[in-house]
Amino acid sequence: MPSTEMAWEYAPAPESRELVRIAPEYGLFVDGTFVPAAGGHTFTTVNPASEEPLAEVAAASPADVDRAVKSARGAFDDVWRRMPGSVRAKYLYRIARILQERAREFAVLESLDNGKPIRESRDVDVPLAAAHFFYHAGWADKLEYAGFGPAPHPLGVAGQVIPWNFPLLMAAWKLAPALAAGNTCVLKPAETTPLSALLLAEVCQQAELPPGVVNIVTGAGETGASLVDHPGVAKIAFTGSTEVGKQIRKAVAGTGKKLTLELGGKAANVVFDDAPLDQAVEGIVNGIFFNQGHVCCAGSRLLVQESVAGPVVERLKRRMATLRLGDPLDKITELSQAGEAQGAGRWSPPCQLPERGYWFAPTVFTGVSQSHRIAREEIFGPVLSVLTFRTPEEAVTKANNTPYGLSAGVWTEKGSRILWMAQRLRAGVVWANTYNRFDPASPFGGYRESGFGREGGRHGLEAYLDV
Ligand code: NAD
Repeated sequence: MPSTEMAWEYAPAPESRELVRIAPEYGLFVDGTFVPAAGGHTFTTVNPASEEPLAEVAAASPADVDRAVKSARGAFDDVWRRMPGSVRAKYLYRIARILQERAREFAVLESLDNGKPIRESRDVDVPLAAAHFFYHAGWADKLEYAGFGPAPHPLGVAGQVIPWNFPLLMAAWKLAPALAAGNTCVLKPAETTPLSALLLAEVCQQAELPPGVVNIVTGAGETGASLVDHPGVAKIAFTGSTEVGKQIRKAVAGTGKKLTLELGGKAANVVFDDAPLDQAVEGIVNGIFFNQGHVCCAGSRLLVQESVAGPVVERLKRRMATLRLGDPLDKITELSQAGEAQGAGRWSPPCQLPERGYWFAPTVFTGVSQSHRIAREEIFGPVLSVLTFRTPEEAVTKANNTPYGLSAGVWTEKGSRILWMAQRLRAGVVWANTYNRFDPASPFGGYRESGFGREGGRHGLEAYLDV
């Protein structure tokens, strides 16, 4: 399985740009072809590391969304739902294989459009996206053995809205299970990172996926809202902020549409005094600085047992001094200032930030209390808050003291303590002696303000079946 272990090669070298051809303009992917938006509107996508404009992208109006949903419905009724699962599987395998063949192109494009280190897009995002298609191809002809009854039916058209932090991977998380289950899709990528989804549309063409089975409509929040509101959509799958998730839940209420929400998080990473500390420090760094901390399940609250707090923070700072940097600024700056104003100790390794682009140094706050904003609000950046605890009970109380519940980590040598903690932590995923590990066979999702529903594994299929 691809690892998410930290590595610090930064953005693609200039020559690697030659691996990817970025067109000056992109249309919407509707009914198997690229078309301009009906109103002719476009928006610009930029490289956040340099602020260089990359391309103009079509902004879909409600009329375009309507066209995409109708195309998806036609493909559902006439082709996709009638096709044997083994044939649907063949298309998913093809997509997975083409993703692997074009992996370098995807990795460079993702790093240019999103700003994430090439090492992460190459070693995590792209291989995991391919793995998702492979895994779900395996399910397409075995749905009757998935535990949802002898003949589970697809729902129809899935409307899917995704964020900017893992653009290609989130597209794969949405499309692969929906298609395996026999649904057709209209996907709306984030307006800041549309390019890898549009390249994936090209892959659908290359795989000769029947027209209309996958449609991609680019645009901002209004485009997402018109997809959510469209009466022809049977299922909404959303990944993004808790705030927008709440709006979507209201919009969908009473419509009979199925809904899954994958929202924000404020995960606790709990380190006990018997944990192997060097390994735990690697896990803490991976937990909060992987993808510049733009990770819903980032371990942004470090709970460290008081007796080892000193050495852990010292080793953490030493390790942070070897990091190189990442992404956007505004909210991260505001919350970090609030951390200082509320009395927490702030530290960043000495590093030079480029003058252009959206950069923020990796930062750790010590002396954080539970009432501090930096301990409560999702920062979604490379900022770690360190709190201490004395007993396992106190660790659980503090870890669960959040409106979120997406993920948590536990570091200890004792297996019994891992199980004891896992039973009490209110989090959809609990990692033990590791952090930020993903696998298509493993369900992922949250509690409370982190949303509901699961993606991945057998559980993830349920969201796309009429069961
Ligand atoms: P966001 O909610 O601002 O945007 C997400 C998507 O929703 C974008 O495509 C956006 O255009 C669209 N959108 C905005 N307003 C909409 C509306 N009214 N109706 C329909 N669609 C609308 O989130 P973001 O800033 O792109 O992403 C960051 C958030 O996503 C963080 O909170 C993070 O924790 C969360 N996230 C969660 C998971 C998970 O699996 N739980 C994974 C990744 C990111």
